[in-house]
Amino acid sequence: MTRIFAETVLLPEGWTSNVRLQLDGAGVITSIERNAARQEGDVNLKGKALLPAPVNLHSHGFQRALAGLTERKGSGGQDSFWTWRTLMYSFLENLTPEDTQAINAYAQMEMLQSGYSAVAEFHYTHHQVGGALYANPAEQSLRVVEAARQSGIGLTHLPVYYNQGGVDGRVLQGGQLRFKNDISQFFRVWEAAKAGIEALSSDSRIGVAPHSLRAVPKDHLDELVKAFGEKPFHIHIAEQVAEIDEIQNAYGVPPVQWLYENYDVQPGWCLVHATHLNDAEKDHLIRSRAVAGLCPLTEANLGDGIFDCVNHMDQGGVVGVGTDSNISISLAHELRVLEYSQRLNLKGRALVCEDEKSTGRTLFDAVCLGGAQAAGRTGGAIEIGNFADMMTLDVTHPDLEGLKGDTLLDSWIFGTQSDPVSDVWSAGRHMVQNGQHIHQQEIVENYRRTAAKLRSLL
Ligand SMILES: [Zn+2]
Repeated sequence: MTRIFAETVLLPEGWTSNVRLQLDGAGVITSIERNAARQEGDVNLKGKALLPAPVNLHSHGFQRALAGLTERKGSGGQDSFWTWRTLMYSFLENLTPEDTQAINAYAQMEMLQSGYSAVAEFHYTHHQVGGALYANPAEQSLRVVEAARQSGIGLTHLPVYYNQGGVDGRVLQGGQLRFKNDISQFFRVWEAAKAGIEALSSDSRIGVAPHSLRAVPKDHLDELVKAFGEKPFHIHIAEQVAEIDEIQNAYGVPPVQWLYENYDVQPGWCLVHATHLNDAEKDHLIRSRAVAGLCPLTEANLGDGIFDCVNHMDQGGVVGVGTDSNISISLAHELRVLEYSQRLNLKGRALVCEDEKSTGRTLFDAVCLGGAQAAGRTGGAIEIGNFADMMTLDVTHPDLEGLKGDTLLDSWIFGTQSDPVSDVWSAGRHMVQNGQHIHQQEIVENYRRTAAKLRSLL
């Protein structure tokens, strides 16, 4: 059992003073005392503000090691998502299970240090180079699980179903063979991954991720929805204009419309990169209460486009943020770019902003709730019965000194370079303490060796 005392806490009802929390051995919050006094033995958060810590709802952990390697023009004179993808595939020619573990542990450590408590890992590198199965068909998933054991991050694992190279049914080739499953093989991979997840911790979850409408034939998607539609169910949906045209040409309607016409889209579903939607599709997404999975830094890096977040949230739509390609991992910067993309597009200020809250607070509250929903995780707020997914901001940081309430969030999100995130708990695991991950040295050393090897082979 753990007891924590903090002078400043963001509870569901708002900023509250002098709060004492109790957590049980599974990392669940069992009591919250308001107007409390600190008692002997309490973890004392003097000089820190305690907040919920959101879930990173979309990550491809291994791509962290590719950051910065694709910022040149391609041979055709223009770089794009598709030339970036070509380099990512050649990177996969050399990625071993040990590499997967080392890179994921590093990325997860950075996620925790920036304020995320958990990650929904959209995992698709299942097989050996060339496509042969490992002795354990979920070997690569289990490496992500081992990384989470070391980093202490909460894990919602999402084995990806990827079957074809395009909606016309063209076959997968080269680096893509590491992703390929048919339905019966995928069930084997998923069951083996599930065993690893269940052995990890009581807050771990497993869902499923059909990669995209272009990579999954309709009859296969039918089977996945039937088997897994009640679990966290994530799909890349409308990221690139070229893929929207591909679906429109094949199915007669754009992808989000097609998805809603064919399936009962649930609140447990996460539509990742719902970037290019027509008005009817926007309406479907809002009314279904499915989560719009936004990855502002990656979407900016890849030149995807801008999600209509202001309209979506004004109408009560659900959102969360993810780090996706992990080009850089920063919760504050993710939220900053989300708001700035709206400002640049709509030529206004304080756009994602409810009347009673500041911009930073509106964004932060929304992604806490949406992230937990997408990950199937009992969290998103400091509340009895929720996992203790929490973070602190160091209010003695020069950028935050003297500030209170929502302004703390605004200054953190819009005004800081060095991160004032001081502590992070994931389901009660206190993995970041005074700004440092407790296994930082070992994780960084492993990653340094791995990244150097992979980069030398490109
Ligand atoms: Zn993605």
